Amino acid sequence: MLSRAAAAAGEVVGGGRGAGMTHAWLFTGPPGSGREDAARAFAAALLCPDGGCGHCEQCHQVLIGSHPDLEAVRPQGLSYSVKQTRELILRAAGAPTQGRWRVILFEDADRATESAANALLKAIEEPPPRTVWLLCAPAPDDLMITIRSRCRLVTLTTPGTEAVAHVLATRDNVPWETARFAARAAQGHIARARALALDEEVRRRREAVLAIPRALTGVGECVAAAERLVKTAEEEAAAATAALNESETSELRKLYGEGSTGKGLNRGLVRGGAGALKELEDRQKSRATRIKRDSLDAALLELVSFYRDVLAMQLGAPVELANDDVRFDLDQLAKSSTPEETLRRIDAIMQCRERLAASVNPQIAVEAMMLSLRS
Ligand SMILES: [Zn+2]
Repeated sequence: MLSRAAAAAGEVVGGGRGAGMTHAWLFTGPPGSGREDAARAFAAALLCPDGGCGHCEQCHQVLIGSHPDLEAVRPQGLSYSVKQTRELILRAAGAPTQGRWRVILFEDADRATESAANALLKAIEEPPPRTVWLLCAPAPDDLMITIRSRCRLVTLTTPGTEAVAHVLATRDNVPWETARFAARAAQGHIARARALALDEEVRRRREAVLAIPRALTGVGECVAAAERLVKTAEEEAAAATAALNESETSELRKLYGEGSTGKGLNRGLVRGGAGALKELEDRQKSRATRIKRDSLDAALLELVSFYRDVLAMQLGAPVELANDDVRFDLDQLAKSSTPEETLRRIDAIMQCRERLAASVNPQIAVEAMMLSLRS
């Protein structure tokens, strides 16, 4: 990856000493295709004196995220606020401290609010001469056309099962059979495949999701299944955010002198501290909501893959089954229902995803979905 990015960087940077450099790049690809990894490798290629050798101090700093000329940002909560974006644009305008470029890696650019996107547009319309923006989003259409048209597009595709399995086996030393299973189940999503291969808890959660279809035998079972799914997402979000919240909060308290003797603190500072703490809590709440939503969405996509497999069996489509390990369940459902019913079920899940994205109460949305999956 690094060498391909280096070639691309060489193509645009080479010779012209930066003249004609494209200042805004857009990396697109489905979830798991490695948008951020590709953008980061490209950043290394821009900042490394050797065009992205992958071994030097510069490359190393970029890859671990400590390079002073690279700023990688992601939304603090559900979306990029205009405030977060404006602060970033100010920082982006600074001159590079070491290399030729100051690189801003803007992850999940599709999560910018409209006003944040407008601020971003202004920044990439008139970029400081040494600043390069690397935006990442699932698809070009996820961004305003005015932003999109100013970016050079880098399109990534989903890698095949064999390729993902190969990465797991060679890079992470995963046994070949496990690597194949994880790659197949993750359907080309590398990070997901890696988690499935290495984390037993992730495998257990997947099994629980795939057990849902056969458990939906009555209304009570549907309600219970919905409750379990929502609760699991909540627990996941809580686990992911707890440690992070705690260290952020204690850091902020320290900054405002709390926990020290308090000598010399004036009332204004104490008031400022309370305001900042409230702001931090709001941000943390919004982040927890986002993680919970993402986790629920991942479970729903897992369910879609189950019914997609059922449909493939019903139609005799010559495709690889993502959930070959639960072939018995797939087979049962494929024989006892029609392709139309399967399509209707997939529709119900997609509708549930849309409702969740529109902030419908999760329990209500998931319950309605479970009932449609049953009948
Ligand atoms: Zn290097």
